[in-house]
Amino acid sequence: MTATRARKSDPHRCPECDAAFEVTYFDDRQDDRAQLPMTTAEAACPACGHARSLTLPAGAERTLVVELSDGAGADEGGGG
Ligand SMILES: [Zn+2]
Repeated sequence: MTATRARKSDPHRCPECDAAFEVTYFDDRQDDRAQLPMTTAEAACPACGHARSLTLPAGAERTLVVELSDGAGADEGGGG
């Protein structure tokens, strides 16, 4: 009886401010055979607040978390 929930993360880029952010959510689908209907949710850019629509498995929008992607940003080509 494993009730592990799959945490999915999708990278997105804001069309307004070009900020990279990740949209994370829990996928409640337990079986691949159980195809839940898809739904549309809105995720606001954490940098500028511009909302964009996303397509997620139904129910996943309730666990939606939006986070700025760390790492990329500097133009340094550091190879240390
Ligand atoms: Zn933005």
